[in-house]
Amino acid sequence: MAVPYADLQLQYQSIKAEIDAAIAGVIRDNAFIRGSYVDAFEREFAAAAEVAHCVSCANGTDALYLAMRALKVKPGDEVITTAHSWISTAAMITHSGATVVFCDTDDAKFTIDPAAIEAAITPRTVGIIPVHLYGQPADMDAIMAIAQKHKLWVIEDCAQAHLARYKGRMVGTFGEAATYSFYPGKNLGAMGDAGAVVTNDAALAEQMAMLARHGGLVKHQHHIEGINSRLDGMQAAILSAKLPHLASWTEARQAAAEVYDAGLNQIEDVVVPEVAPARSHVYHLYTIRHPRRDALAAHLNANGVQTAINYPTALPFLPAYARFGHRPEQFPNAHRDQGRILSLPMFAEITREQQDEVIELVRKF
Ligand SMILES: *Cc1c(COP(=O)(O)O)cnc(C)c1O
Repeated sequence: MAVPYADLQLQYQSIKAEIDAAIAGVIRDNAFIRGSYVDAFEREFAAAAEVAHCVSCANGTDALYLAMRALKVKPGDEVITTAHSWISTAAMITHSGATVVFCDTDDAKFTIDPAAIEAAITPRTVGIIPVHLYGQPADMDAIMAIAQKHKLWVIEDCAQAHLARYKGRMVGTFGEAATYSFYPGKNLGAMGDAGAVVTNDAALAEQMAMLARHGGLVKHQHHIEGINSRLDGMQAAILSAKLPHLASWTEARQAAAEVYDAGLNQIEDVVVPEVAPARSHVYHLYTIRHPRRDALAAHLNANGVQTAINYPTALPFLPAYARFGHRPEQFPNAHRDQGRILSLPMFAEITREQQDEVIELVRKF
């Protein structure tokens, strides 16, 4: 049996009538840019994310840029983020004018290690961007305590963590702002690029909205120099159609993770993802560790099971950051994990039979 890594068609087929009607409505209304569909999604997503303001934008990468520009990041500033993640966070720190400072990940949970943050702070540090990687919240109590002590802002990168909670509280509500991606494969995905930045601070929200819309909210009134970063009406309508299903899709991912946990955790050499107490994991990715990762991946792929490595090179060791001359011993956990992590098929519609197939193949290996 072939098991895909993810299957976006299945989700579409399950809500085809709603998606098709949403797209038809946008075309009928000529509501391609801004307009009622975008306004409605911003309201609905703010409510779902339990924040006061949602500023939609073109993608999750722009969301990070908008948040940092609105927080007035400037050359010479240092911004701390995690060593093992997708590159957007680090790259946008650079593009907003600041210097990126990497911190190692936690030994077991893949998120930024608060002790490493404390050690990385200098008089130039202005902010911290934790990433709730794979769908598990970072250690927000510890991170917010450090931020408060050193008077730093916090932007949460929630691109992989829609609806995840830390001690009952929604991710994205701890820091000054939080960013989301609605890339098609994310837990809430558009049918193209889409993103948003959320906040409880009305002034910050207005600043971010202006930055995203050529520096002004009213045509021809440019208060600042902005960029053009828009969520288009079609994507907004699609996201509004999908949003009511997000909670049940998240529960399905969590149920699938339980099946994997139970089936895999007795197998020698397999380390299943560890979830810290009082954190809800929304399993954007189900990522195990294995000492012979490449051979295991080859075995699974040869037997029809698709896997992925998120991410094969930790950020400090990428050519893009060669200028820093980082060494493996500075980021021991990220360096170890980059050679061991393997993401297994995970999507809301995955069947028990598909999961049993994956588990059986790992057992045989
Ligand atoms: C997907 C992702 C982003 C970027 O989102 P895009 O919409 O692809 O620009 C940023 N950070 C993390 C952690 C992501 O997974």
